[in-house]
Amino acid sequence: ANADNGGPTIFDKIISKEIPSTIVYEDERVLAFRDINPQAPVHVLVIPKFRDGLTQLSKAETRHSEILGHLFYAAKIVAEKEGILDGFRVVINNGPAACQSVYHLHLHVLGGRQMKWPPG
Ligand code: 5GP
Repeated sequence: ANADNGGPTIFDKIISKEIPSTIVYEDERVLAFRDINPQAPVHVLVIPKFRDGLTQLSKAETRHSEILGHLFYAAKIVAEKEGILDGFRVVINNGPAACQSVYHLHLHVLGGRQMKWPPG
């Protein structure tokens, strides 16, 4: 399993487009692209373009408030674009106990099927 070492991740190469991805939404602050291993018909990751120490949500500081808000707003834009505004899930896996595998903060936007709760 990966650890949070604060260093570059595969998402840096996705942001720089060195590694191709299917982009759903992009602006100057965030990038949203399809997960390579989708867990639902719609599975999009929303990430900050500038990580600024946000390897995981538990590292959030006051200075991150604005980007955190914008990430959630971008998740809504993604749900709208994907036609799942009536029902979707936004997930953040934080740390090893939550199965986080990439240490660059990301929101999972999931939908297009009936979601179960609790997720397990
Ligand atoms: P985590 O487990 O850290 O919450 O989620 C990381 C997600 O990134 C996983 O769902 C995984 O499928 C996705 N992922 C990992 N590498 C790549 C990649 O190279 N391209 C894309 N599009 N998704 C990736």
